[in-house]
Amino acid sequence: MSVRTGSSSLLFIPLWIPLLLAAVPTGLLWRADRRAARREHAGHCPHCGYDRTGLATTAKCPECGRG
Ligand SMILES: [Zn+2]
Repeated sequence: MSVRTGSSSLLFIPLWIPLLLAAVPTGLLWRADRRAARREHAGHCPHCGYDRTGLATTAKCPECGRG
């Protein structure tokens, strides 16, 4: 949308357009980051967060003793 006022023209941009342009990639990056964080936590103890890599899935957590 542009309005001509004499020799100069003013450009009007609704504020929600730059907001949307910034929010969409931010939201997508945030979602990808959350997914990566969840995947990282997959091999960790759900109770204490201890890295269970190399342990049997049925083995108790050596850190907190819970399954
Ligand atoms: Zn644990």
